[in-house]
Amino acid sequence: MRLLKLTFFLFFFTLTQGQEIKSPSEFLGYNLGEKFTRHHQVVDYFEYLSRSSELIKMIPYGLTNESRKLNLVFLSNENNLNNLELIRKSHLQNTGLIKGPKNNNIVVIWLSYNIHGNESSSTEASMKTAYEIIKNNKKWLDDAIIILDPCVNPDGRDRYVNFYKQSRSFPNDTKSFSREHHEPWQNGRTNHYIFDLNRDWAWLTQIESQQRIKMYNKWLPHVHVDFHEQSINNPYYFAPAAEPLHEKITSFQKKFQNDLAKNHAKYFDKNGWLYFTKQTFDLLYPSYGDSYPMFLGSIGMTYEQAGGGRAGLGIINDNYQLLTLKERIEHHFTTSISTIEFSIKNKSVLNENFQKFFFDKKRKFKFYILEGNSDILNSLSKFLSKHEINSSNILKKQNIKGYDYQKEKNITRTITPNSLVISTDQVKGKLAEILLEPKAKLNDSLTYDITAWSLPYAYGLKAIASNEKIDFKSFENIKVFENNINNNSYGYGFNWKSFEDSKFLASLLKEKVLVRFNKKKLINNKNAWDLGSIFILKGDNNHIKETLVSTVDSIAKKFNRTLIEINSGYSDSGVDLGSQDVKMIKKLNVGIIGGSGVSPYNYGEIWYFFEKQLKYPVTQIPEDKLSEALKSINTLILPNGSYSLFKSKEKIKLLIEWIKSGGKIISIGRSIDMLAKNKIFTINKKSNDLKKDPLISYNKSKRNNISNNITGSIYKVNTDPSHFLNYGLDFYYTLKLSADSYEFLEKGHNAGYLSENAQPSSGFVGSNVKDFQKNSLVFGEQKLGKGSIIYFVDNPLFRGFWYSGKILFSNALFFR
Ligand SMILES: [Zn+2]
Repeated sequence: MRLLKLTFFLFFFTLTQGQEIKSPSEFLGYNLGEKFTRHHQVVDYFEYLSRSSELIKMIPYGLTNESRKLNLVFLSNENNLNNLELIRKSHLQNTGLIKGPKNNNIVVIWLSYNIHGNESSSTEASMKTAYEIIKNNKKWLDDAIIILDPCVNPDGRDRYVNFYKQSRSFPNDTKSFSREHHEPWQNGRTNHYIFDLNRDWAWLTQIESQQRIKMYNKWLPHVHVDFHEQSINNPYYFAPAAEPLHEKITSFQKKFQNDLAKNHAKYFDKNGWLYFTKQTFDLLYPSYGDSYPMFLGSIGMTYEQAGGGRAGLGIINDNYQLLTLKERIEHHFTTSISTIEFSIKNKSVLNENFQKFFFDKKRKFKFYILEGNSDILNSLSKFLSKHEINSSNILKKQNIKGYDYQKEKNITRTITPNSLVISTDQVKGKLAEILLEPKAKLNDSLTYDITAWSLPYAYGLKAIASNEKIDFKSFENIKVFENNINNNSYGYGFNWKSFEDSKFLASLLKEKVLVRFNKKKLINNKNAWDLGSIFILKGDNNHIKETLVSTVDSIAKKFNRTLIEINSGYSDSGVDLGSQDVKMIKKLNVGIIGGSGVSPYNYGEIWYFFEKQLKYPVTQIPEDKLSEALKSINTLILPNGSYSLFKSKEKIKLLIEWIKSGGKIISIGRSIDMLAKNKIFTINKKSNDLKKDPLISYNKSKRNNISNNITGSIYKVNTDPSHFLNYGLDFYYTLKLSADSYEFLEKGHNAGYLSENAQPSSGFVGSNVKDFQKNSLVFGEQKLGKGSIIYFVDNPLFRGFWYSGKILFSNALFFR
């Protein structure tokens, strides 16, 4: 008994002293770097640490698409962790979000690991980092709240780790051509819907980003690091970042990156490790894990270790070096610790400049004013509120001078009271400016990503940026509309103006409601119906006679749609509702081709569009199952890419027969090139004789190549409003992602095109390819037998954030 008491005492004593806390290796049963750790094991380890130590607390913040847990791990002293909410509020007093005196009580450091799932060493390093701090650096925890996100993308990580465990050799094979170094088509980089989460910080289309940003906004750290991996041949990269840097990044933010780099260099030099800075990884596009935090006052940084999905447990790289998981972990661990150490040392200067960031109210424009359909204004306002950017309504009709986005010059315009106003005089005003400004200043064109993203263009809204005084009131969302649907009506109709209308239509079709749209204008019972308006007529719906009214009513309520009652098929002017020009919308059975050669990103964007945005079923079809699939689908989407489907003459023949008998193809990006090889598809790529200077110096050639590229710029499209692809769109701006350009369709409808005078409204276009865009197709339709082919030269669903692209894509689906 006495012995038992003593053991209990010792056990209790050691636990409270924290001396017996297990290292990751002791807990997992293998040395870090000997195996990959599955996500649930990582969660187990952090759960264990939170149970065993007073210096660590795990807070869940959500689930992924595949139901894996998302957690933040907080490290600080016991007192701080018990008063987390108080500390958070006092920290936010420095931003102005919460009233109270400025202070420099604490430094908040946020380290995000493994956003790209197959860049897998960093999650392993996160466990080592937490353990090291608890064990050997307790003194740091008085002055800091250290937040670790051990795995930002657990679905992607486990996809990679499972692949590696399934396909590796024993012992692991370090030859770079062996199977374990080559992931399959949907690799582990992205999330479930094949979205790159490190391009989603600003757009927040994905569930992981949406849940994380809520936590991020609660804490607004002083320092944020995004841990990555790059090619197996590169030395370690840490900030300072490369040009172009966004002009809103402050000189202090740049200086701190520089000073911190010297701290890292000290450790890397001591160990003889190679590294580089100031190259490759720029800070322009606002949707990265380094740039986005910069626009919220953090020191945002990317660190890149050699490795990624190719590296496995060990690989011989092109420099004859053996790159092991163990050393990859060691490097990320070292920069984690160095970042924490240096940030804590500089607590005061970080706080001082963090306060300055938020109290600097210098802006290019005081207000952004947007006009258009109320659904679209509501959507934009809702999107901005996810970033805690407030929007308002203009108080009264007013003449306003400012930069007009459509005319691309300064004008004076009358603004109507329902316009949306976004003031830049708010805590998140800088971020608002970056997302809304017409053109981002580009001080170097050699960038990693798109150079234009301006939201008014993406949403298809009229906009003006102004420095005038504007009176505004708090934003009012559209009121819930009560439909009085009468059982005795001839039918009901609604306007086609927004993506919310597309979702409503998709839902009606799912419930087997048959609907029509008008290809010609008409006035019925004094209501003028634009092209593409939707009609639900009693006479079409005898198969659901008993339930039609209640079904339509409940779906309309769900989507907050206004239905207009129709009492007669006879039109005051234009075609009657029974006319052939008021066409039935075909039942849609949609398929999408996937597999090797298909762009995984574009495939994911389409998959996501159907499942999560439009909420209409899409069948995912492996390429070799196409013949079978064609028997049961009537719409086939060909994502961007170059795939073997078109190498088989038999399959092409089958596809052509299928189109002729009524099938519809929607072809995006480079999939057009595969069709173009067959003369039956009447689309032709333009050939551009790029002017290359044969005597260009070797060192300048990369930079010179930029002149041949478009890496994401915005163009206004000339549209044919009578064509169904433009229904509901007052105008359309396209995001051009490549310099590829196509001739006008000779046999077909050029529904959207760039004219002789085409100029980019925003973003960089290489000088050699500027003229090449003139007189080119953007989107169009070719008819073939009873079916058709829709060509989209630019991807309207790019990264899921181009709102008007979703309307355009819906038009291609539903109408013909
Ligand atoms: Zn990465």
